[in-house]
Parts: sequence; structure tokens; C-alpha cells
Amino acid sequence: MAITVDVAVLGGGPGGYTAAIRAAQAGKKVAIIEMDKLGGTCLHKGCIPSKSLLRSAEVYRTLLASQQYGIDVAEGAVSLDFGKVQTRKSATVDQLFRGLQGLMKKHGIEIVRGKGRVIGPSIFSPKSGSLAVELADGEMESVVSTNLIIATGSRPRSLPGLEPDGERILTSDDALQLDALPESILIVGGGVIGVEWASMLQDFGVSVTLVEAGARLLPGEDAEVSAELTRALRRRGVRILTSVQLDTSSYAVAGEGISIKASTQDGDVELTADKLLLSVGRVANIEGIGLENTDVRTKDGFIEVNPFGQTTEPHIYAIGDVIGGVQLAHAASHEGLNAVDHICGKQIHPLPDHLIPRCIYSSPEIASYGLTEDGARTRGHDIKIGKVPFQAIGKAIVLGEAEGFVKVIADRKTNDILGVHMIGPHATDLISEASLAGWLNAAPWEAGAMVHPHPTLAEALGEAMLAVDGKSTVF
Ligand code: FAD
Repeated sequence: MAITVDVAVLGGGPGGYTAAIRAAQAGKKVAIIEMDKLGGTCLHKGCIPSKSLLRSAEVYRTLLASQQYGIDVAEGAVSLDFGKVQTRKSATVDQLFRGLQGLMKKHGIEIVRGKGRVIGPSIFSPKSGSLAVELADGEMESVVSTNLIIATGSRPRSLPGLEPDGERILTSDDALQLDALPESILIVGGGVIGVEWASMLQDFGVSVTLVEAGARLLPGEDAEVSAELTRALRRRGVRILTSVQLDTSSYAVAGEGISIKASTQDGDVELTADKLLLSVGRVANIEGIGLENTDVRTKDGFIEVNPFGQTTEPHIYAIGDVIGGVQLAHAASHEGLNAVDHICGKQIHPLPDHLIPRCIYSSPEIASYGLTEDGARTRGHDIKIGKVPFQAIGKAIVLGEAEGFVKVIADRKTNDILGVHMIGPHATDLISEASLAGWLNAAPWEAGAMVHPHPTLAEALGEAMLAVDGKSTVF
């Protein structure tokens, strides 16, 4: 007998489970089909485990620099037990996993554990869809739903010639499971994941080489942010090479590690390390989910949707990493909520992609939304910029973390905030206020006129907003 629901969600990551909860709250009968673990990449292979490791790395770095805070630690008294770091990470994930399972129960959401595939319109109604689910024990189950939300996420991309083997060539999935830290690592790809891992592993004492094919790290972020991060990582000892072409055919196992040749601006080099971490982007999971049995269209490897998340089959929605755009957990959840509200016939106002905060949890942290300075100029905006360094902010000095700045870019004629870029302490927490200002269409002076408590890091944002019109009083 088929499981019949109003809304079936294929994939139980942050996009899928958030959509499921919203649908259940709206009184819909809901099922999630999940072939691995509820929580998806974010909870098990992404946001949460990586942030747990980053936190341990931060504590370790701070302890090693304890004298800066007037605290003497006897030589050799601080040591890293990576096994315990991993145990803490797993405990954090488990705690959240249990919470998530509880939430599903509370909302009466049925979890179907297996690999799902759309098999087309159902026999009950051409407007509803059917899914075949291969359960863990090999049995088949069918799920019939009026609406389907595809939230199958993404997986690490590999480079031809550098196939991950989980031993020497790692993806971020493999790296999260390391039992012991390597002495050295070559990180290929200077995007978000590469930068987070470089920062974390360097803090753990690993010798890190980070190579990027483009001219700079984080090509999607503001050039000044990218330059500041490069300086900060180099100061901590990360070897960074940009405009690098790897000769993947030269890859070789060398002793316990690897070697690979590369051409750089300064000539050819041979790079060696104990491990190689591939962080060259992610591929959407669109294969094997039965799209060929639908009229759903894909473009450049992602499912095409309209602003409400509807695919070219109006009763099938798609959200999260599988549709591309901003591949972050909070974007996936937001898209999930919108899709369900649309299914329920509510009027919705999807947040434009440019207002979704982009966050990078390296040290220092980076957060932004909207246009970069170059992007704003290329689009023909006559811009004005307010920029305040954390050196001018009392709380940053108190914390001993005064690297970086907040930069606000506004249109000179319309006074619209076009983009906000931060690099510095707790930037990922500070960006929400900036996004709210964008969402409410505030002018920089309006956002800056709000009273920011002293001493807080949020003052940096308020002052940068005022600095747009030359009105900051700290800089
Ligand atoms: P996913 O989380 O990928 O979930 C998809 C689910 O679908 C999976 O559980 C999968 O098993 C299931 N599935 C796939 N196919 C099928 C099928 N046929 N049948 C049944 N189930 C299926 N984002 C942030 O916002 N903040 C961060 O700090 C952050 N850190 C990250 C760190 C790393 C190392 C990585 C890799 C990613 C990070 N991300 C972060 C990105 C974030 O994890 C993703 O954007 C987010 O998980 C996407 O959510 P989703 O629901 O679209 O898909």
C-alpha cells in the first residue's frame, strides 16, 4: 500500500526538513524520503562538524597565544588531542541529530528511509506525483503526493586526474573523518571550503599550502576582503599560491604522501604534502532521482525553478543546493519555506539572492551580501563607500582580534545600500543586521543612526554605515 501524503520531500537536509516542518505546521500530511541521515550535508558533512572543528582550532590557537591576555601557561602544557576534538565534533552532531528527530516526531512528519526516485504522475491523479523508494533492506515502497519538493543537495566535485581515494586525496567529507592530523596538506581550491580548512588546519599546526587557479582567493568576494584574508592567512604561516595550473598527469604517490607539479606566476614548482584536499566546488544531485520521468528542466547541472521554487512541472518544487545559486544552508531553508508557502497559496516575497548573507567561518571570519565594489562599478553605479577598520572599535581591541574591516557600498544617487562586506571577529554574526537594513531598504544613514551598544563589535557596522556619508565619529 502506498504512503499517500500532501507533500513529499525528497532529501532531508536543511532545505528539506525546514520545508517539511513548515508544511506540517500548515496542516499538510508530509513525508521526507532520506537515503542517508536526516540533517543532510549541513549537519553531517558540512556546517556543523566543520564549525565544531574550527572552534577547537580557535581555542587551541588562543591558548597558544595566552600570554597576549596576561596568562602564563607552562611550556608544553597545551597539547592537542585530535581524537578528543573529533569526539566533541561527533557529540555536537549527535545532539543536533537527536533534536531534529524529535522535531520530526513533534510535527508528525513521516520519515521514509531509502533512496527515492520520481516515477511520474500517480495513477490517482495526473496532477500528483509518485516516488519509488528503495529501502535500506532492498524492499520497495511507493510514496504518492500532491506536491513534491526536490531537496537532494550536492556532493563534492572532483578534478579529472585527481580522483578522491579517501586516503591521500580527500574531499571535505573524508577530511571531516580524519583520525589523525597530517603533518602537511595541499589544499586545491581557494573558495569557501578551501579557505575554512586552510585556516583551521594551520591553527591545528598542520603545514598548509593553499593553491587557487584564479588570480585571488575567494573570487566571488570583494577584492579588498580577499586581499585582507590572504595577508591574515600568510601571517599565520599558510603558503598561498594563486594563478596556479596543476598538472594533474604528474600526480604521484611519494612515500607516505603525494606530489604534483604545477605552473605558477613564478615558474614551475613541485608541490608535496602528506595529503591533498580537493575543494573545487560542489555538484548538484540531479542524477538517479527520476527527472527523466518528468518535464522538469535542468540548466548547467542544476534544476531550473521560478522565484517561488516551482520547476517546469508546477506541482514539483526544487530548493537548496540542487538549484544552485547561493549554496548555503540558510538559503536552502529559506527556499524551502517559500516553496511551502507557495504550495499553500500564500502570497510570498522571496528574498532576492543578493540579500542572502554569504558567510565564511575562517579566522578572521568573512560575511557579505550584495554587490562587491568591482561589481557595483561594472554595473554602472556611481558609488560611495564607508569603511571602518576593527582597529577603531574598542571591543575588537579588548578581544585582541582587531584584524579586518567593515565596508559598506551605497549608490550615491539613490542612497541604496548595494553591498556590505566584513572581514573580522564574529563577522558572520554581524552580517544579519546589515542584511536586515538591506531587506528594509534602509539608507546607510538610517542603519547607522540606530544606537549600537558600546563596546560591541556591532559598532563597526554602525560606524561603517555612517562613514558612507563621512559621518563616522570613530574613524
Ligand atoms: P543537503 O544538505 O545536501 O541534503 C540533501 C539530502 O538529500 C541528503 O541528506 C541526501 O542524503 C539526500 N538525498 C539525495 N538524494 C536522495 C535520494 N535520491 N533519495 C533520498 N535522499 C536523497 N552552509 C552554511 O550555510 N554554513 C556553513 O557553515 C556551511 N559549511 C559547510 C561546510 C562544508 C564542508 C560543506 C561541504 C558545506 C557547507 N555548507 C555550509 C553548505 C551547506 O551544507 C549546504 O548548502 C546545505 O546542506 C544544502 O542543503 P540542502 O537541503 O539543499 O541539501
